[in-house]
Amino acid sequence: MRARLLDFLRCPLCSASLEAENAFDAGGWLESGFIVCSACHARYPVNEGIPSLLADGSHLGLAGKTSDSFSMEWLNYNASPEEDRKIFLEESQTEPEFWKGRVVLDAGCGMGRYSLVARSLGAEVVAADYSRSVLRLVTASRNDAGLHVVRCDLLQPPFKPEVFDAAYSHGVLHHTADARAAFKSVAASVKRGGYLSVWLYGKAGSWRNFRTNPLRSSRKFLEPLKFMVWIFVGIRGFYSDAMRFFTTRLPAGVCYALSYPLAWLGAVPVVKYLTFSAHRDYKIRFFENFDWISPPYQTHHTKEELAGWYEQAGFEPEKTLPHGFVPKPGVLGRKK
Ligand SMILES: [Zn+2]
Repeated sequence: MRARLLDFLRCPLCSASLEAENAFDAGGWLESGFIVCSACHARYPVNEGIPSLLADGSHLGLAGKTSDSFSMEWLNYNASPEEDRKIFLEESQTEPEFWKGRVVLDAGCGMGRYSLVARSLGAEVVAADYSRSVLRLVTASRNDAGLHVVRCDLLQPPFKPEVFDAAYSHGVLHHTADARAAFKSVAASVKRGGYLSVWLYGKAGSWRNFRTNPLRSSRKFLEPLKFMVWIFVGIRGFYSDAMRFFTTRLPAGVCYALSYPLAWLGAVPVVKYLTFSAHRDYKIRFFENFDWISPPYQTHHTKEELAGWYEQAGFEPEKTLPHGFVPKPGVLGRKK
């Protein structure tokens, strides 16, 4: 880590400022040591250049299993930078120029695919995640003064208030024990006038809300069939909850094995919608299925619910993400 990272951080336990206990090397890098709270004197370890601002014992329990699931998943995953860039711009509902010169938080960066995209578009990036998958970013961070990495818990966040020009959290907050609280903590770290982009897993919700869900241009043909889609999404949600009742109680290795047949079924017309990924690429289907059945926390939301969170956090929702068959509530909002 570099000293610059401390500009964005505070003690997750008492909110006081943090200091490095050890000296940074000639290149301004701290490979291992501790950062210490100036008030409560809590000590947080730095290993392989990454500070872990997790409160004691937080590795235990369900959050730890979530962390293991995602570490396992992301350490095995490789995608092309072009595809990552396309997905990132689509999901954040921004143009490439948006990111230039902004200081940005990637809240729940996983192995940092989109942190690297935001960085390549000219943002200074703080990549944060609970899981060990952040280790994938060590080398990149060591060689790049504009890429910072931290392990932390979004429910006990180590970020100073109103310190980022923008933040995004794509497909992450529904995997925390309390998605709304995690949203609130990320939103608090965004400056006034700054932007926040979030998307969550969707659910059928009420027909009144579902009928106004925005469809991607390639899925406009579903518009007249929307009532049937709503029914199907409701059934799929029920079936998913029933399946997860069992799979979330299994070790991650068993879920990993189960993701193979699910990925094969994902290529079968119609049947594929009963799995959790209909992506054309087998490998991506595999990981998306694993991502679905394994993590112990998984909540589902509507665009109305998410827009309400934005408003309560003092944001003006500006754009809502269009999506396909299964709803994917996503909002880009600006802090007033
Ligand atoms: Zn403290």
